[in-house]
Amino acid sequence: MLQDQDRIFTNIYGMHDRTLAGARKRGHWDGTDKLVQLGRDEIIKIMKDSGLRGRGGAGFPTGLKWSFMPKGNDGRPHYLVVNADESEPGTCKDREIMRHDPHTLIEGCLIASFAMGAHASYIYIRGEYIREREALQAAIDEAYDAGLLGKNAAGSGWDFDLYLAHGAGAYICGEETALIESLEGKKGMPRMKPPFPAGAGLYGCPTTVNNVESIAVVPTILRRGADWFAQFGRPNNAGTKLFAISGHVNNPCVVEEAMSISFEELIDKHCGGIRGGWDNLKAVIPGGSSVPCVRGENMRDAIMDFDYLRGELGSGLGTAAVIVMDKDTDIIKAIWRLSKFYKHESCGQCTPCREGTGWMMRVMDRLVRGEAEVEEIDMLFDVTKQVEGHTICALGDAAAWPIQGLIRNFRDEIEDRIKAQKSGRVSAAMAAE
Ligand code: SF4
Repeated sequence: MLQDQDRIFTNIYGMHDRTLAGARKRGHWDGTDKLVQLGRDEIIKIMKDSGLRGRGGAGFPTGLKWSFMPKGNDGRPHYLVVNADESEPGTCKDREIMRHDPHTLIEGCLIASFAMGAHASYIYIRGEYIREREALQAAIDEAYDAGLLGKNAAGSGWDFDLYLAHGAGAYICGEETALIESLEGKKGMPRMKPPFPAGAGLYGCPTTVNNVESIAVVPTILRRGADWFAQFGRPNNAGTKLFAISGHVNNPCVVEEAMSISFEELIDKHCGGIRGGWDNLKAVIPGGSSVPCVRGENMRDAIMDFDYLRGELGSGLGTAAVIVMDKDTDIIKAIWRLSKFYKHESCGQCTPCREGTGWMMRVMDRLVRGEAEVEEIDMLFDVTKQVEGHTICALGDAAAWPIQGLIRNFRDEIEDRIKAQKSGRVSAAMAAE
């Protein structure tokens, strides 16, 4: 289990003072000017050596992403955009940073922006996050008053402005190019790539979009060193990570742990175990609603990191939002609800997503009631494959994967329901609908 002295987020539960004075007591903003003076190349090298992979879901190496920003200056400004649109169902980790430990993020913005040659950064925060916006804005104001932002920010010699932009609550604005469109004041619709944001992003200028947690851990990694961060987790899965565990555990929580912790340890140490005990575990969605679910018996020994969950279990770590479902769960209905969500959030630009999400949801709707033919299960799987990988952005994949996970892992349950419906044996649970 991660020791307290190795935690980056020391006020994640809001038990301490979240103001600048409190943050300083906990070691933030300590020698920030020296960190900036390490220089662009050295900062990016440390980030690469630390092994940090993006915490927003895709797990792309953060240092490498920063290195894509142009080194020279062609006259266009550079921007860092922080994705605080945390809208994936089950994911609720960045909000804890923003409302209880906001200075980790603000300090990270300064250092990361310097490393990418950006004098301005925008934090794009989810529409529903009202209190988080207030806390973050108060922290930004404090930082300006203390000279940590603005001209010669924190005495580093780097001029830096930080702006907070409030979204209107659309899931798709969490997609980096849709987020950029929305920041520019347009409809939040994903752009075709290339060009990638590092070439032409916000206002056509070189831009890097990073998740809140990815940026908030930067100052501590630089202070404590790449080796310190890399010691946690298995190779290629380095660091500490915020896990957000919800659903049928005794104590749902957000907790910072070492990567590659076992699922069993995570649940038993921090969540008081599975509701009704381990034998009552039915399924787990280990990385936010868009990754495929895994059968409970395959999860107990699972290693919670990018490579294991993808390679061994065909799922993913995603945002590390772990949704636990016990045997009381109607798993078909749970996945149908996600289908409904993705259908609702599709921006409608590309046909496979616009039509496919609705089609998949309507078939799922009938599967919940068992009003389908068994052959339709394969047909549904086939449609998910036609949507996956054939769209502008990853929402198409996000809509397809939960259904694929359901069919791969719980096909027997879908077939049983169809047969029960045909023979008039509708379960008590279904009859109560
Ligand atoms: Fe819009 Fe869906 Fe296409 Fe993404 S995949 S651009 S959400 S229609």
